[in-house]
Amino acid sequence: MCVLILHYHEIWLKGCNRNFFLQNLKRASKQALEGLHVKRTVWEDHRLLITFEDDNMAHHGIERLRKVPGVAYVAVAEQTNPDLDSIIDTGSRLMRTVEFHSFRVRARRSQKSLPFRSVDIGRQLGARIWTDATENGRKVKVDLSNAEATCYVDVTTSRALLYREKIPGMGGLPTGSAGKLTCLLSGGFDSAVAAYKVIKRGVRLSFVHFWGRAVEPGEGSSPVARKLVRTLTPYQGRSRFYLIPFDEIQREIVVAAPQDYRILLYRRMMLRIAERIAYREHSHGLVTGDSISQVASQTLKNMEAVGSVASLPIYRPVVGDDKQEILDLARHIGTYEISCEPFSDCCPMYLPKSPKIHSTAAELDNIEADLPIKDWVTKGLRAASKEVYEWRAGEVTLLKKHNHESSPPIRR
Ligand code: ATP
Ligand code: MG
Repeated sequence: MCVLILHYHEIWLKGCNRNFFLQNLKRASKQALEGLHVKRTVWEDHRLLITFEDDNMAHHGIERLRKVPGVAYVAVAEQTNPDLDSIIDTGSRLMRTVEFHSFRVRARRSQKSLPFRSVDIGRQLGARIWTDATENGRKVKVDLSNAEATCYVDVTTSRALLYREKIPGMGGLPTGSAGKLTCLLSGGFDSAVAAYKVIKRGVRLSFVHFWGRAVEPGEGSSPVARKLVRTLTPYQGRSRFYLIPFDEIQREIVVAAPQDYRILLYRRMMLRIAERIAYREHSHGLVTGDSISQVASQTLKNMEAVGSVASLPIYRPVVGDDKQEILDLARHIGTYEISCEPFSDCCPMYLPKSPKIHSTAAELDNIEADLPIKDWVTKGLRAASKEVYEWRAGEVTLLKKHNHESSPPIRR
């Protein structure tokens, strides 16, 4: 029977907090593997060992665990007794099924009390693999740094685990270990990638999307944002998604404010409304997809001027990334195709021809002094709706959907 090995990432650094991180990782792994008929899960010497009723499930398990933050790598291993003869027999069998010209054995013992050393495994198993191949008329050599095939051997307290491939996980820290943040998710590339980057660090995100009525059916931004939330949900297990109708507020800004300041005022309104939701969600800050000087509203001065309305910290995980780096990561995490989908509501329709490139908080405060900012915030929150998504048995499902009118926003 094979066993799936999960190695965790970075958590060993956390000293006395380690248990807290491990509990979060265990919970996330359990959720990811739901429905795959797990037989047994045990922690053994800094790794999680999972066995299934049916060995084929281990391969599905790998695909799911690759989306769990905190996982350094996973592997499907054969297990045997922790003695040299069993290890050599199992390793020989495992390596006979592959073609290679160069190979190596990478052995590690977590129990130093064993009567053999890692180098003994390397030498003796290596000799056996070489003999097996030579007897079969194949010419193979040992290459410790650049081998075509590797036989990994991990010897733990109760067993030896042998495998050929380490499949990289997403790294980072387990969901929930860092607390909560609220992400302004636009439907574009940047904010989805920004979201992924903080989820990877153990943050649980709630999402806020501001939408306008579509010019034509099917052209709205909310279906795109919703798909992004669904795509990001497996990485954190569960997501709350707030949708705020924004075109009325935008129209009022268009009427009341100078054209070149419009976009900065939209952003300020988005931050104010998102912050109120963040407080309701017990989040410790906001996340945006701003990247320095990518567009006019993201010059350093404009980000300072816009951000001054928020009292919670604003995290901008892609602030130093080039667009190409953002697009590469978007492809990797599965949001690229979704963000490519065209939509024509929200900001694009109300964009100024030449937006202000360098503003100050005082200038924006001055323009806003005559505007009904509080009313707009209330209007946005009253009209908000919420959806909750969960990753269960390998599928993202909508758990709840409701309108906020029934639950007035918490004031602060
Ligand atoms: P993205 O930056 O996600 O690619 P974008 O380029 O359309 O989308 P920008 O104009 O760069 O958005 O806006 C900067 C940031 O402001 C976004 O990354 C996002 O965090 C936030 N934002 C912009 N529009 C919206 C929106 N309609 N709903 C929620 N957040 C938004
Ligand atoms: Mg952007």
